[in-house]
Amino acid sequence: MAGIVIVGAGEAGTRAAFALHDTGHTGAIMLIGAEPHLPYERPPLSKPESGAVTMKPICSDEALRNAGVTYLRGVEVSRLDVALKSVALSDGRDLKYYKLLLATGARPRKLVCPGSERALDFRTFGDAKIIFESVWGSRSVAIIGGGLIGMELAALLRGKGLTVSIIEAAPQPLARAVPLRFAGKMHARHVEEGVYFHLGQGVSEILADTVLLADGTRVPADVVVAAIGVQPEIHLAETAGLATGNGILTDAFLRTSDPDIFAAGDCAAVQQPGGSHVRFESWRNARTQAEIAARNMAGANEPFTAPPWFWSDQYDLGLQVAGLPQPDHQCVMRPSSTGELEFYLDDGRLVAAAGLGTGNSLAKDIKLAEMLIAAGLSPDPAVLADPTVNLKTLLKSAKAA
Ligand SMILES: Cc1cc2nc3c(=O)[nH]c(=O)nc-3n(C[C@H](O)[C@H](O)[C@H](O)COP(=O)(O)OP(=O)(O)OC[C@H]3O[C@@H](n4cnc5c(N)ncnc54)[C@H](O)[C@@H]3O)c2cc1C
Repeated sequence: MAGIVIVGAGEAGTRAAFALHDTGHTGAIMLIGAEPHLPYERPPLSKPESGAVTMKPICSDEALRNAGVTYLRGVEVSRLDVALKSVALSDGRDLKYYKLLLATGARPRKLVCPGSERALDFRTFGDAKIIFESVWGSRSVAIIGGGLIGMELAALLRGKGLTVSIIEAAPQPLARAVPLRFAGKMHARHVEEGVYFHLGQGVSEILADTVLLADGTRVPADVVVAAIGVQPEIHLAETAGLATGNGILTDAFLRTSDPDIFAAGDCAAVQQPGGSHVRFESWRNARTQAEIAARNMAGANEPFTAPPWFWSDQYDLGLQVAGLPQPDHQCVMRPSSTGELEFYLDDGRLVAAAGLGTGNSLAKDIKLAEMLIAAGLSPDPAVLADPTVNLKTLLKSAKAA
């Protein structure tokens, strides 16, 4: 009998499988993943605690079995037939479904220049192993791309004593995802740690031990890593005729243009109240969307409304951003003993917050800021900026009012 099929055993696919079990669903749940391992978390790949690449599994084989999930690992779904409601697997089998979740994630964007085949990707456990084995015995690494992943890797490799250079096409690293002032502070910390930056620069060619930049600069590089972002993995959806754009398009309930097919995580572009579609690439987003999609596949009708949230660890610095800070928001700064917070107001209403501090020290404040945002409050900026005003007290009094 046809069951629920989940394509992709990353954060989203795996969390959806468990969430389906939690709904009381008793039919078959098939989780199909192209990678050969147990499902694992990607964030620790760029933040290994011991300095060595470690795999942090999301669950054990036993937990999957206990949840009634059949996990096919190292198996790719090569075709989706929406008319027959079936998927073709790389091992030659066809599987029927009555509901399908596409949780296919994203794949690294490819560099286009002579010698680009020498650049290593950084997305999977397999990629991380290759990078860490390659840097062993090397002296210099060039990371192309100064986004979150490139900068986390730079911090890690500087810690191993390597000469690290970051090559970034934009005039400032981290500018796409991180509020400007915090991006500047993180950049300054990397410079302090000895990372070399080549900003506003394109790559002309990757040679045996050098990256040649567009302005003729030669950057020493025994190892080259490309961290220039990802593209949503939409091939299956596209060839099956589902609506796609910058991701697999879904409505607010994570339903694709086929009512029996849902999408969640890095591959999904979800409809917003104004009608546009937005795709986020973050761990919590993948998890939350997966859980909602699972409940909706089981018959619920729950919209996805959670604001975005992500974190990044570089050296001893911890960054957290909740909501979507925009340049035209009013920015209110608030110092703390271990770092700084920024709150962002849109027409007086609190819509986003960010914190940069030592380790995880600002996590509690960001959690409270998320609650203030969710409550739709318009706090007095002077009160927000005052570090002696407890955010918990502010939340309580605002709720009471
Ligand atoms: C190194 C690194 C560090 C990160 N750090 C952070 C962080 O600090 N904070 C944060 O918020 N986010 C972080 N992220 C992002 C976060 O990990 C992702 O947003 C999250 O993993 C997305 O989950 P997903 O399940 O949507 O996609 P993925 O994790 O990409 O999983 C998709 C899976 O589907 C499989 N698949 C694709 N197509 C098929 C097919 N046809 N058949 C079978 N299987 C298929 C893929 O092989 C893959 O295993 C990091 C990502 C990386 C790579």
